[in-house]
Amino acid sequence: MSLERTSGYEGALLVDGSWIDTGERRDVIHPYDGSVVGSIALADREQVVEAVEAADRAAEASELSAYERYELLMETAAHLEDEAESVARLLTSEQGKPLVESETEVDRAVQTLRLSAEEAKRQFGEYVPMDAQRGFARDHCFTQHEPLGVVAAITPFNFPLNLMVHKVGPALAAGNAVVGKPASNTPLVSLKLFEFLEEARQEVGAPSGLVNVVTGSGSTTGDVLLEHEAVEAISFTGSTAVGKYLAANSGMKELTLELGGNDPTIVWDDTDIEAAAEQVVGGACSNAGQVCNSVERVIVPEHIEREVIEALVDAAESLTVGDPFDQATDVASMVDDDQFETVVELYEATVEAGATVECGGNYGGDLGPRTFEPTVLSGVTPDMPAANEEVFGPLVPVISVPDFNAAIAEANNTDYGLEAGIFTQDIDRARRAADEIDAGGVNVNTVSGFRADHMPYGGFKDSGVGKEGIKYAVEHFSRQKLVGFHDGFNA
Ligand code: NAP
Repeated sequence: MSLERTSGYEGALLVDGSWIDTGERRDVIHPYDGSVVGSIALADREQVVEAVEAADRAAEASELSAYERYELLMETAAHLEDEAESVARLLTSEQGKPLVESETEVDRAVQTLRLSAEEAKRQFGEYVPMDAQRGFARDHCFTQHEPLGVVAAITPFNFPLNLMVHKVGPALAAGNAVVGKPASNTPLVSLKLFEFLEEARQEVGAPSGLVNVVTGSGSTTGDVLLEHEAVEAISFTGSTAVGKYLAANSGMKELTLELGGNDPTIVWDDTDIEAAAEQVVGGACSNAGQVCNSVERVIVPEHIEREVIEALVDAAESLTVGDPFDQATDVASMVDDDQFETVVELYEATVEAGATVECGGNYGGDLGPRTFEPTVLSGVTPDMPAANEEVFGPLVPVISVPDFNAAIAEANNTDYGLEAGIFTQDIDRARRAADEIDAGGVNVNTVSGFRADHMPYGGFKDSGVGKEGIKYAVEHFSRQKLVGFHDGFNA
């Protein structure tokens, strides 16, 4: 059965409690068939400055208690949950992922908001035992958390709802005001989120300007956010190239960077190969492979390579490719022509370099103009593009290695270090992988793509700086003040 996509969504900017239009607009396209879903207002520099200054005033004026911040986020979660079905349709309409994946994303976003609400009540300071140093036995000190002020949240196209919640939820929980900037090809679901946030803001009586959202060019917005002194923190999820630009220009601002990956998953010979293969293919192809921690390299021992490839092919061929609104669809469209063409080029170059296509390899045409079939590639070597670049498409490149030392070395043979997975029943191999793979997370008996929303999440090396996961993001969005009570005049 195929469901209706959304159309006619006219987005505006939310600045200081008002929805405002701008002179210029940009259409948002349904990736599967190119139809127009809606449009967004393109903010200019002045409008981004206004949003930042409104947020700054709100941050100064806001006196929300922890309980009120909890209420703000719980109310937002309730609004989102009430409209979950239409929000999921909007998400699939603009992003192109299968509807069932959008439903999961909306459900996760509701949970991320509730986890953030709970975290608002856990801003504990700590008592500092001053008598640990000679001469301070009569001093009493403790720490307290304070918000930073204005937090800017810049998000990518692939999880446009939950990744925005991962930033604004913890930022508001810590007592900050926010300015959101969603990706230009998937902005509408974020605008919907800010509608719910704004309703909840009014319900709890917080100052206007506590939540703002601007749409339009990333570089225009990004440069204002970098330059404006009132922005204390920038939380960015997106490509490594843009992340490095922000890092080079952010001066003293707090910066969280959640960037690209080229994540390995090792399938060793002591595991259930069929079950592992099913998870690997799911981890490589969900959201048409457009997931930062998707399985991008499958590392296997040479002596079981054929067995693993056959299991991967079976799993890949069992996936249904098609219209994202069709409930039977597992793999649908990529988000836009740029993403699609990048994957096509990377695939063609890898095959030209000698990789073998075990299954799949079709793209475009009758499948849909931006759709790529799940594709298993064998004989992939570390120098091939599908092995040494971020693969943001449904490719499953298999690299074989002679022994476990080589598997670990291959897992680390990348500039990225987001997440890794290993399937093994051997405790010593699992421990070695955990200790020796240089990534922000090592997942034993599942794929690199594993993520729960409250766990610390963030990569090493070119994959980023800092951690998300509610509690950890709240730490980035607040500062600790030391308060001391001393002997003073009563000595
Ligand atoms: P992108 O091109 O870097 O865009 C991300 C966001 O940055 C968009 O909102 C974009 O706005 C904005 N932007 C562009 N230029 C900017 C600038 N100069 N200053 C400030 N902001 C700017 O990334 P994408 O293609 O949307 O997303 C895919 C990438 O995100 C992949 O590399 C993926 O691995 C990574 N990612 C990482 C994680 C993680 O948690 N580590 C999660 C998801 C995705 P416009 O859209 O208007 O250009």
